[in-house]
Amino acid sequence: MAIVPFANTSKVPFISVWAAGTPITHNGAAENYVFRVSAVDELVDQAMVGRAIAKYGAKKPGLMLINNSWGESNESGLKQALSAGGIGLAERVFQILPDLLRHGRQTLEACACKLGCPSCVGPVNEVGRRAKATAARLLAALTA
Ligand SMILES: [Zn+2]
Repeated sequence: MAIVPFANTSKVPFISVWAAGTPITHNGAAENYVFRVSAVDELVDQAMVGRAIAKYGAKKPGLMLINNSWGESNESGLKQALSAGGIGLAERVFQILPDLLRHGRQTLEACACKLGCPSCVGPVNEVGRRAKATAARLLAALTA
């Protein structure tokens, strides 16, 4: 985000390889010199919500977002996509998050697979060979 005013005032085209925050390229400048080669959060959020509804039958998904401009952009895009999809947001997720994380950690630790499987983090060919170890580290940190 810090580069946006500089790029626009100096009239130097700036092309980001993965700046998904909507305000980065939709920054309100009369002459905008900031471009991206990835989809804006709003498009990605619509796709994620569409998949959650179509594949998993989601009725009230919860959101866990980082507390910065990226998270704010996705919160806005996801709420719009959820509303457009005719489903709401599960406000209670934050209250039960510690239990969810603890249950996730127990599920992961109880699974006999080595790298990941559909019972814990997902199939290795979809999530990668480091997904189970990464999930274990994240869950350990979040439940410490
Ligand atoms: Zn597993």
